[in-house]
Amino acid sequence: MKRRVRQKSLYNLHRFSVDVTYDIVTKHINIISVIHKKLVDIRKKKEDDRAYYLKNTEQCKQRSSEQRKINREIASEKRKHWRKNNPEKERAYYLKTIAGKKDFVDKIKENGCAICGYDRCGSALDFHHVNPQDKKFNIARYTKVNSDLVEEIEKCVLVCRNCHMEIEILSKRGR
Ligand SMILES: [Zn+2]
Ligand SMILES: [Zn+2]
Repeated sequence: MKRRVRQKSLYNLHRFSVDVTYDIVTKHINIISVIHKKLVDIRKKKEDDRAYYLKNTEQCKQRSSEQRKINREIASEKRKHWRKNNPEKERAYYLKTIAGKKDFVDKIKENGCAICGYDRCGSALDFHHVNPQDKKFNIARYTKVNSDLVEEIEKCVLVCRNCHMEIEILSKRGR
């Protein structure tokens, strides 16, 4: 009697695991077919969009630039709103990022202009990219201290505004 019960429960256990696997497989197949359908839809939409764009290029360009402007305004409004409602967080963020970056850059700027040695005012010192085509972003506008910033600074020489202007003009003439 005892034995039969055990066998029965084992059998149930086995069936249970089969059911589970089967369930998982069906689920996967369903997910895959949903993804596949989505991909087909996305491709179809891309093709349609492309065709529409080719037909109405000027209109599209104008609309997207208008949309970008609207998006920028919305984002800036949101930021303003957030700052107003989270002054402590804003301050903490400032100290952690922008102020930290300013300290970091100011330390480098203590070295002064690589050409004439000017070092009185950090704001009058620029990072000039030695190879402009290597430039990934504007260091002055960057807000964080991270490896990207260090990498970008390493592509530059520190020069004062006057020397920088000379370099830019001369390199333009040289072209
Ligand atoms: Zn430059
Ligand atoms: Zn200089």
